[in-house]
Amino acid sequence: MARVVVVGAGLAGLCSALALADFGHEVTVLESGPAPGGQLAFGPQPFTLPAVLRDLFRKTGRPLERELDVVPVDPAARWVFADGAEVAVPNASPSGTRRALDDAFGAGAGAQWDAVVAHGDRAWRELRPLVLGHAGAKVSRQAQTLRDVATSLREPHLRAALVSYATRYGADPATAPAALTVLPYLEQTFGVWTAELPRLVDVLAGRAAERGARFRYGATVSGPALAGKRVDGIQLADGTIGADAVVWTAPPGGLDGERRGLFGRRRDDAAPTTAVRADPTRAPEIRFPATGGPATSWYDAAGGHVHGAATGRVTAIFRRPANVTRIRGLYLAGAGAHPGPGIALVAQSAAIVTDHIGRA
Ligand SMILES: Cc1cc2nc3c(=O)[nH]c(=O)nc-3n(C[C@H](O)[C@H](O)[C@H](O)COP(=O)(O)OP(=O)(O)OC[C@H]3O[C@@H](n4cnc5c(N)ncnc54)[C@H](O)[C@@H]3O)c2cc1C
Repeated sequence: MARVVVVGAGLAGLCSALALADFGHEVTVLESGPAPGGQLAFGPQPFTLPAVLRDLFRKTGRPLERELDVVPVDPAARWVFADGAEVAVPNASPSGTRRALDDAFGAGAGAQWDAVVAHGDRAWRELRPLVLGHAGAKVSRQAQTLRDVATSLREPHLRAALVSYATRYGADPATAPAALTVLPYLEQTFGVWTAELPRLVDVLAGRAAERGARFRYGATVSGPALAGKRVDGIQLADGTIGADAVVWTAPPGGLDGERRGLFGRRRDDAAPTTAVRADPTRAPEIRFPATGGPATSWYDAAGGHVHGAATGRVTAIFRRPANVTRIRGLYLAGAGAHPGPGIALVAQSAAIVTDHIGRA
């Protein structure tokens, strides 16, 4: 059994704490806030790849759907264009999407979007082992950008829709990788889902506590404590707590320069985009401005940076800090680490770290 300290009780911290406590480790979670959940406090948050959460639940007790309602978001999104065109994109239905696009933009528009999804399918085959695997993902520099794929579309609304998969996340389609076509592919193939997030937080925290994890709130960690090239605990304002392993899920930005370097290279991309919406409906709305500028996702939340730093450069999405650091025993999970932000990817980062630490 190892003493594991998990820093942060957002989704990454909760998933890591649960899985590691279930593996028999002595887990302590230190959270600077008064309660668990982190960014899950904002809702609703549609997500794809529900299998990642299902897997954690199945391995650690009752299946996900027996604990909370996980329901498909239908439509998956509403595209709202400045010229008045609107499309409700059906969830997980390539044929329904084809029909909706033909109805909105004329016969053949659906087939053009099918080609985008087929591109995403090919991209996913290459990316899957990198996204779901043990990070430090390395792919050859891609010559094609998302804008290249978009220019191959004749229908201008579809071009705007495709490049929005970059601009919504603060990235420039002219430099973002063509492989971002995986996003529409994942939405159409695995569906877009939502769940009652406070309940998700309660179940994860409750289950982790049942497996022996201890939670301390109001505990702000200032950084990992090191002994040479290995971690031997964490530093709080009032002292050090010893640990054999530390799973860091808080944003690395709060650390001083030297220790921030522990988390690998930094990304130098565009600012993230978020907008606020006063009238919530469950399907996110993607708004396309008349100027042709960046599309925005409208959330019914109180603002803030949703998506972290953007994937501005062609290969930047593959350059997030790896989950296993060069310091022995120090692991990274969460939105700031591989494979990236969002419910499914953050939960996957915790799964990668848990696999690496292994059973007690
Ligand atoms: C408005 C909004 C809308 C979103 N919409 C979606 C969506 O539609 N679909 C989707 O998949 N994702 C969405 N996301 C993103 C998703 O919620 C996040 O990627 C995910 O919840 C991040 O989890 P995390 O554990 O990595 O980070 P966080 O939730 O940020 O957790 C980190 C925790 O660490 C704690 N902490 C920070 N510093 C310290 C420290 N020094 N010591 C101790 N504790 C510390 C924080 O208090 C926090 O609780 C949205 C996010 C927001 C804000």
